[in-house]
Amino acid sequence: MLNLSPRVLACAALSFHFNLLTACAEAPQAPQPLPTAQPAQTTAVVAAAAQPAAPLPTLSFEDWRNQLRSDALAAGISATLFDRAFAGVTLDPAVVAADNSQPEFTRPIWEYLDGAVSARRIANGQAQYAQQQATLSRIEQRYGVQAEVLVAIWGMESAYGANIGSNNVIRSLATLAYEGRRAAFWREQLIAALQILQHGDIAPERLVGSWAGAMGQTQFMPTTYNQHAVDFDGDGRRDVWFSPPDALASAAHYLQQSGWQLGKPWGFEVRLPQGFDYALADPEVRKSVAEWTRLGVIPAAGKLAPTLSAEAATLLLPAGHRGPAFLLLGNFRSILKYNNSSSYALAVGLLSDGIRGGNAAVLADWPRDDPQLGRSERIELQERLAAHGYEPGSADGIIGANTRKAVRAYQQRLGLPADGYPDHSLLNRLRTQ
Ligand code: CA
Repeated sequence: MLNLSPRVLACAALSFHFNLLTACAEAPQAPQPLPTAQPAQTTAVVAAAAQPAAPLPTLSFEDWRNQLRSDALAAGISATLFDRAFAGVTLDPAVVAADNSQPEFTRPIWEYLDGAVSARRIANGQAQYAQQQATLSRIEQRYGVQAEVLVAIWGMESAYGANIGSNNVIRSLATLAYEGRRAAFWREQLIAALQILQHGDIAPERLVGSWAGAMGQTQFMPTTYNQHAVDFDGDGRRDVWFSPPDALASAAHYLQQSGWQLGKPWGFEVRLPQGFDYALADPEVRKSVAEWTRLGVIPAAGKLAPTLSAEAATLLLPAGHRGPAFLLLGNFRSILKYNNSSSYALAVGLLSDGIRGGNAAVLADWPRDDPQLGRSERIELQERLAAHGYEPGSADGIIGANTRKAVRAYQQRLGLPADGYPDHSLLNRLRTQ
């Protein structure tokens, strides 16, 4: 959880899009950037790819830690607690490597969804739902968030609590704050983690998380935790690591604060009419569901609930005009505040539908014959678009709003469907012109 939103950050580990600030989910690797929201990984948004290389630290780790100790004590952390938390803590080379990793290939969204919304994960979710039913209905009443969505987030973030990470959070955050990019961000997370320890929610030896410091069954970053974690089982501690009621209620509290509307869907798959203007599939183009209907956008299955007519919706084509289309409602945007990745939010939405006993399958075909562009290809695309006079933004390999606009403009010039989705054929056209 880090990015634009208050929370993210941590899970970005797996990919280069680290930009978020949210809770992060470590497990499922997010696919490469979609033409939608800025790519994100579960938790934190900060586009690592766009970041400058980490400056070489000028202090030794020990000197840096001593300086940090003064700051922490000034911030109210007790010396005893600080020394206990830092006992034996050294730099973690695996964290440095993970932070610097910029994988060439990430899984395409269809493969990501195959794993994230598998039949097995749905069945596990239904079993967990049944087991936590009494708690979940109390959480739903208290925070106004559908239980199946909380269970879906739980499944995405930690495989229903089975995978909460085993990194020492203090060590990971100290490594990132000392060595990494965005040192100020990591330092703030580190101080927040010390505050959690000082508050007595968890013992230092049990403060584990992902390599990037995302913690517990909801994979909250420390600052997110301090803002949103709650004690729901009533033992006086906010235990998102080992208490499912605390973890689920904390996720509910976060979504509530992000504007969740009880009983509303996240969105639904749609079919588009012949001759549709694909330029409308842009997160900046928001229309009511009724307006989309007038444009011929209809549910891929079933009927539209009349209660949704006035809802503001955006149209998402995660793999361009050759792939499925989705109308996204306000609750989808709340999930994005949890983790600013439309692939992640789509997975949560579909998984929640499946857990509820509805249809979790995507009906339209994905363009599986055309793997999404790799990182160096995306950089080349941006460089070539710029050379052709378009303005795709910096050549960082991240398909954000500017790149999408430049791709659209180029597609329009060629008379192609202007979906803003760069594929290999478009890159080849740029190469030969
Ligand atoms: Ca508790």
